[in-house]
Amino acid sequence: MSYFREIIDGGWSLVEGMRVTVRRLFQPLVTVQYPRKHIRMSSAYRGHIELKVFKETGTHNCIACGTCERMCPSGVIKVQGVKEQAKSPKVATHYVIDFTRCSLCGLCVETCPTQTLEYSKEYDLVGETRWDGVIDLMARLETRRAKTV
Ligand code: SF4
Ligand code: SF4
Repeated sequence: MSYFREIIDGGWSLVEGMRVTVRRLFQPLVTVQYPRKHIRMSSAYRGHIELKVFKETGTHNCIACGTCERMCPSGVIKVQGVKEQAKSPKVATHYVIDFTRCSLCGLCVETCPTQTLEYSKEYDLVGETRWDGVIDLMARLETRRAKTV
């Protein structure tokens, strides 16, 4: 008797599975053919921090004040800048973060006096060593600028 019961249960399970498959077949796709296609992340998504490019200047607005570096609870930001002239403001020349230890708390973005930081929309970063998580934001900014020229 249990033998026939198992056959009936198995058949019913098959019908249930097919019912779900057929129902899904006619619904809009919610997946994409990654990596050939990419999705647009929501505005609330937080990737690693990124330097903004301002339209007026065509570059970032980081004055290397070090506020983000001091505020970061994980101590993962390293920023350096130069003064091109004695009385001119500093301009950042190096900006590196170790994203492997970033908690995405957002303190750096919120406290930046020149609002030059934002969150990237990167969602598929990969690396083979932990050093691959160390990101040079200046180099990324230059790549982005080169693409827009
Ligand atoms: S989001 Fe937080 S942890 Fe990450 S770099 Fe900014 S201040 Fe540091
Ligand atoms: S707080 Fe803003 S302006 Fe100051 S070093 Fe950080 S990113 Fe640059």
